[in-house]
Amino acid sequence: MEFSRYLQRLIDINGPMTIASFMTEALQNPEYGYYQKKVPFGSKGDFTTAPETSQLFGEMVGIWVSLLWQNMQKPSSFILLEYGPGKATMMKDIIRATSHIKKFHDSCEIHLIENSPILKDIQKKNLSDINIKICWHTDISTVPDKPAIIVANEFFDALPIHQYYKTSSGWRERMVTYSNKSGSFEFILGGALSLTKDLKKQHEKAKIGSFLEISPASCYIIKEISRYIKKNQGAALIIDYGYSSFLYQNTFQSLKNHKFNNVLENIGNADMTAHVNFIELCQVVKKEGLDCFVPISQRDFLINFGIELRLEMLLSNLSDNLKITNLTSGVNSLIDKKEMGELFKVLLIQNSNLSEVFGFKSKC
Ligand code: SAH
Repeated sequence: MEFSRYLQRLIDINGPMTIASFMTEALQNPEYGYYQKKVPFGSKGDFTTAPETSQLFGEMVGIWVSLLWQNMQKPSSFILLEYGPGKATMMKDIIRATSHIKKFHDSCEIHLIENSPILKDIQKKNLSDINIKICWHTDISTVPDKPAIIVANEFFDALPIHQYYKTSSGWRERMVTYSNKSGSFEFILGGALSLTKDLKKQHEKAKIGSFLEISPASCYIIKEISRYIKKNQGAALIIDYGYSSFLYQNTFQSLKNHKFNNVLENIGNADMTAHVNFIELCQVVKKEGLDCFVPISQRDFLINFGIELRLEMLLSNLSDNLKITNLTSGVNSLIDKKEMGELFKVLLIQNSNLSEVFGFKSKC
């Protein structure tokens, strides 16, 4: 059966799908899901991530990792845990950037949370020359209890969202159905909706025509991360594109071959994401009793951790003009306010007994 027929049948049986169910099917369906059958990034893929843009990205995260390890009193056995490592490029760059730190590699175990069989194979291959124990998991419940340093880049944007739309008669959930005539998928508004008391109050001033996006899946995972850190010590660095004040915009989007694609077309063959709602992530972290730092822009994070100095250093050893141009333009894409610099944000969560960290501003 074709994927679209499979989805239409689900709609025939259950009625219109929430965007959360639609995203889950499109990305994770075991037979047709995007992440189950495709390598999403690179020039032949659909999008390019920061670690794939420049090695300096993972190196700067590596500097944060090493400072944190020292801040944690250099535990002699700890876990470096990454959610959704893609091709494991960032992990490779972190490991290289920390290779000169005495005892760091000897104390470290790598744990990776990944549910794409294709990407897991690529990760195994790309990390094969690293002399550190590596284990794979599908979620954090099987990761052993040890002090941990957790990183995630462009992981949360791939998690399902629910989307609500404000009409003159209140909030209604945006759902996916299909036309009996043409067979094509289309959006429909569900019945009048009463948001939870908290959400209702928080968004009572939203204008008609506003979109509200929430991600119970992201909240669940950030809760698991917070509880793990609270129990075992450590911190997590979450990097993604998203917002830290409500813009009430529709951010549900799809990319195919590096171009925007209609979210209701090429289902299972195109990337599908939403901007990360950092406000709800911070609320969960605070509720769990951890320190949560106001998300800073990717630009500020990378500059604070020394990307410009590192670039200068690398450029001073290069004479090949093409290499110089590539290196410089890669770093510019990461920090330029019109490219990834402002839209991408960095959220830091840490155990409250750790001292305030360099590079971040105030607590949420
Ligand atoms: N961090 C990488 C890849 C980002 S793409 C980079 O920056 O290049 C998203 C990654 O998260 C992929 O590795 C994908 O397979 C993984 N992923 C997406 N949803 C997941 C889920 N629910 N559970 C585990 N891994 C998931």
